[in-house]
Amino acid sequence: MTEQNAPRRPIRLCARCGCTTDDPVLVHEVHAATGPGFNVYACPDCAPHYPPLQDPLIT
Ligand SMILES: [Zn+2]
Repeated sequence: MTEQNAPRRPIRLCARCGCTTDDPVLVHEVHAATGPGFNVYACPDCAPHYPPLQDPLIT
């Protein structure tokens, strides 16, 4: 088995239930003052439990 030809799917860890999902939903963006921020993902089942993304650039 070779994985080089397989499409690389974005496996993410759900921040709410802790399961891994290959269909992550971005639920929160953390912006760090120093250095790059990071994103928080949830699985599709948990995503509705998070508040909608708030983009400070959009008022
Ligand atoms: Zn989840």
